[in-house]
Amino acid sequence: TEETLVLVKPDGVARGLTGAILARIEAKGYSLVDLKLVEPSRDLLARHYAEHEGKPFYEPLLEFMLSGPVVAIRVAGNRVIEGFRSLAGTTDPTTAAPGTIRGDLGRDWGVAVQQNLVHGSDSPESAERELAIWFA
Ligand code: ATP
Repeated sequence: TEETLVLVKPDGVARGLTGAILARIEAKGYSLVDLKLVEPSRDLLARHYAEHEGKPFYEPLLEFMLSGPVVAIRVAGNRVIEGFRSLAGTTDPTTAAPGTIRGDLGRDWGVAVQQNLVHGSDSPESAERELAIWFA
């Protein structure tokens, strides 16, 4: 069975949406394997977001991710990587489809970074790399 890394980002934790997001993952039928509340270091985030270094939203993204605690979750299930990204919806919460986490619970807050509640690994390679970073 496959595993993915899900993060409830600081906006999701601060708004008290962790439970609602976990409920959607569980209701879909995926298994929670490990879960923790983390205050990530800048170094950890730089490793997690290495592919975005140099992009215009990189610094705002790191500042946002440092703004409060994050919930890191190891989730398992057949095709869970694709399945969680489908549950999350597209990056921009304004246009993410209703029925998705971002589409139902997110919005544009007029800041430099998309505050879109969750992260989910985008490939088996990313999942392996990211799980090693967050669950070392
Ligand atoms: P998805 O792949 O579903 O879009 P993601 O979290 O993997 O979600 P990435 O493209 O890896 O998205 O970008 C990482 C994060 O950086 C996004 O989730 C979002 O918070 C922020 N971000 C991405 N693109 C932009 C952008 N153009 N402007 C502002 N913030 C952005």
